[in-house]
Amino acid sequence: MITATEISERAATRFLWLDLTRKCQLQCGHCYNSSGPEGTHGTMTRDDWISVLDQATCCGVGGVQFIGGEPTLHPHAVELVEYALSLGLRAEVFTNLVSVPGVWWELFQRDGVSLRTSYYSDQPDEHKTVTGRPSHQRTRENIIKSVKLGIPLRVGIIATRDAQRIDAARRDLEVLGVRDIRVDSTRPFGRAAADQEPDPARLCGGCGFGRAAIGPDGTVSPCVMSGWMGVGKVQEESLADILGGVTMSHAKAIIQAMTGGPDEDDECTPGFPGSGCSPRN
Ligand code: SF4
Repeated sequence: MITATEISERAATRFLWLDLTRKCQLQCGHCYNSSGPEGTHGTMTRDDWISVLDQATCCGVGGVQFIGGEPTLHPHAVELVEYALSLGLRAEVFTNLVSVPGVWWELFQRDGVSLRTSYYSDQPDEHKTVTGRPSHQRTRENIIKSVKLGIPLRVGIIATRDAQRIDAARRDLEVLGVRDIRVDSTRPFGRAAADQEPDPARLCGGCGFGRAAIGPDGTVSPCVMSGWMGVGKVQEESLADILGGVTMSHAKAIIQAMTGGPDEDDECTPGFPGSGCSPRN
């Protein structure tokens, strides 16, 4: 358990998830925010997201992760990543690597950009069982291309069921040249929760400590997994006021009480998705 002083030092937000969309080509059974082909890009406009990036820089944020849904499907995603880079922010893109247009490959090779993706099996059929689509070959080919181009890549193998070929998936990725591999478990939120109410006790505990998320409707929450714990909307208040506000403090206190607070290694492991946190993300 870390000390109160250490927790306080981590309170300043240094990392933001920019959760652009609920649209995705896939429909994974464990998806923590129930994204899929019928999902929308929400109510945040291009200008709203640009404003968030400007404010994030002023707040001392050093890195953002573009996530969803599938962030590359968002109509302004390329521009937003480029804008983040122009502000000096590190930009990670959490993508399923199913379909990657040429403009994205150029962007992925820019300094300050890194990639994150998820993988479920070395076997196409088992992979399809998780994603709901025959996506294994495309994702695997784009992992190979990322490695070949020298793009920083982190891959999370998400354990979604017993007897899943986790070790074989890891060996497959290692053979492909992936060096940064994590194995994460599914957390019971979104589609993975079925009919369960979201339970703060099932979060990793790092939520809100040095990090926060902004959803497609502008709702700020302690992390992407805790979207139901909205603490303000960026269309109504400044980002600084929300991050430093009483509602955020209250949400963090609940999470800390239910989970014990951040882990010593400061990594959150929500299963899917992540960054500095490997939720699925
Ligand atoms: S888990 Fe990721 S790839 Fe799967 S449906 Fe959700 S956003 Fe799409």
